Amino acid sequence: MNRRLVGRTVAVAVVVLAAAIGVVAVTRGGSSDDASTTTTTPATHHHDETTTAATVPTSSTRPPPPTDERTAPIGHPPPLPAGAADLHEGVDYQFLTYQPDDHTRPVAYDPCRPIHYVVNERTAPAGAMPILKQAIAEVSRATGLEFIDDGTTTERPVEKRVLYQPERYGKRWAPVLLAWSDQAELPLLTDDSFGSGGSYGVPVDDGARSLYVTGEVAFNGPTIETDAATFAPAQRESRMRAILMHYVAHVVGLTHTGDVRNILYHGHDGRATSWAPGDLAGLAAVGTGRCYPTV
Ligand SMILES: [Zn+2]
Repeated sequence: MNRRLVGRTVAVAVVVLAAAIGVVAVTRGGSSDDASTTTTTPATHHHDETTTAATVPTSSTRPPPPTDERTAPIGHPPPLPAGAADLHEGVDYQFLTYQPDDHTRPVAYDPCRPIHYVVNERTAPAGAMPILKQAIAEVSRATGLEFIDDGTTTERPVEKRVLYQPERYGKRWAPVLLAWSDQAELPLLTDDSFGSGGSYGVPVDDGARSLYVTGEVAFNGPTIETDAATFAPAQRESRMRAILMHYVAHVVGLTHTGDVRNILYHGHDGRATSWAPGDLAGLAAVGTGRCYPTV
C-alpha cells in the first residue's frame, strides 16, 4: 500500500523519548573480492551507540493505542537447535538494549502486534528489493514477529528520528524505516560501512520497562552494490541477503558478537549466510517480549 505523502517530514516536534537507537555500522573487508582474503572489521569501526531520552512523551505526542493489537503473540520463534542451553547472552548473541528493571532482559517489540515498515528505495541496487523481503522473512521466522510492508516512503534517514509523524503515516507510531541511503545523506555511512540500524524504545510500566515502537535502518546502497559486484552471481544474492539480515536483526534488538560464524558478528561481511545457533537464540529472545495493548 502506498500512502499519499503530505509534505516533508513533520516539523520536528522532538519525540526522542527514552530513545535507544543502536547506530551500528559494519565495515566491508578491505579486499572483499574473495572470501578467503576478506579482512574483518577492526573494532574501531564498531559504532554501537545508545541515546538516552531527553524528553518523556506527553499524551499529545504519542499516538492512540494500536488498532491491530492481538490478545496473544501473533507468532512464536521456532524451537532452538540442540545445545542452545549452552549459548549465552553477551557471548553468542547480545541485546542492543536492556530493560531498565532487569539487565538480563532485552528491550523488544510487542509480539502481539505486527511491525509495520516502509522502504525508501532511493539508492537500492537493482534487484535488491526482493532480497530485502527475504531478509525480513528470515528475521520474522526466527523471532515469530510479523512484519507488514506499508509500501514506499520518501522519508530520509536521520540519526534521531521523529517517532510519531501523523501527517505522514497517520495516528500510529511511525513504521520502521528501511532506507537505502548513502554517505552524502548520512555521514556515518562511510565508504567501508554497509549501513546502520536500530530501534527506539519508549518507557512503559512507569519507566520500569521499555518497549520498541519503531526503528530505522540506513543501508549504504553504493557500498552494498559495489560489494555485490565483486562476487560471482551465484554468491551475490546470498551475501547481500545475509548483510540485510544483519541490519534487520539490529532493528529487532540484537547487537554484535565477536563470533565470526554469526550473522551478527561485528565484522560480518556476508560470508556467514545463514543464522548461527547464537543468532537464533538471540532472535528468539527478542521475539518473546511483553505485549502492551495501550502503548
Ligand atoms: Zn551491525
